[in-house]
Amino acid sequence: MENSFANISAGDVKKRVERIKGWREPFRMFFYANIRLKMANETILIIEDEKNIVELVKFNLGQEGFRVLAAFRSNTGLEMALREKPALLILDLMLPEITGIEICKILRQNPKTKTLPIIMLMARGTEADKVLGLELGADDYITKPFSPRELAARIKAILRRSREQPESEMMRAGPLELDISRHELRLSGKKVGITAKEFQLLRALMGSCGRVLTREVLLEKVWGRDNSINIETRTVDMRIGQLRKKLGKESGRIVTIKSVGYRFDND
Ligand code: CA
Repeated sequence: MENSFANISAGDVKKRVERIKGWREPFRMFFYANIRLKMANETILIIEDEKNIVELVKFNLGQEGFRVLAAFRSNTGLEMALREKPALLILDLMLPEITGIEICKILRQNPKTKTLPIIMLMARGTEADKVLGLELGADDYITKPFSPRELAARIKAILRRSREQPESEMMRAGPLELDISRHELRLSGKKVGITAKEFQLLRALMGSCGRVLTREVLLEKVWGRDNSINIETRTVDMRIGQLRKKLGKESGRIVTIKSVGYRFDND
């Protein structure tokens, strides 16, 4: 039987593959150049009283193409956050006048800055502050001393996410599909039996993909703040355990953040 592939030698195939790879390269470059351009004009505000940290962040993020504004005092920082409309805020927790936690609270209450992405800077071993900060709506945190490259990577991840659609009818991660309208979980196209609470838990996690959600936040999202049966945070851990079993090979996407909560990874 004759078909169009019959006369192609292995060498030809290799040549064709190479040619396709060659075409792909400019597209790839164009794609990354575009990402860079989009990042380039974005303003990042840092509120931090330690001058050397501000210099380090300014220099490194500047090299990544960001415009960096700095405030050494809480009041100035708050004013700048409202006036300059930064794309993201790096907020130190230990500030002399108004603490980072307070600033976070104020910004979340203001409609103008309600959704401003915030990364908290914190000293090692301030677990309670970390939990509190994330509960108040900080998007991520980074512990001092930190690598500027790590900080830049986190910033880019958050900005990429904040540009994406908040929530569609279908949430996907690899072979996982969460169909919101049909209330269904599918794994490689096959339906997986899931309880209502597991569904809501997964929805909350996938909807905040890449962000750490504390157990308290998950409790509130899934069970509601005013739950009459007084559900404890370990219920969340239990449900997560059940959910992971159902996710099989994909269970690793739900990452445990020790003594804080959970994060869903899309990549
Ligand atoms: Ca400080």
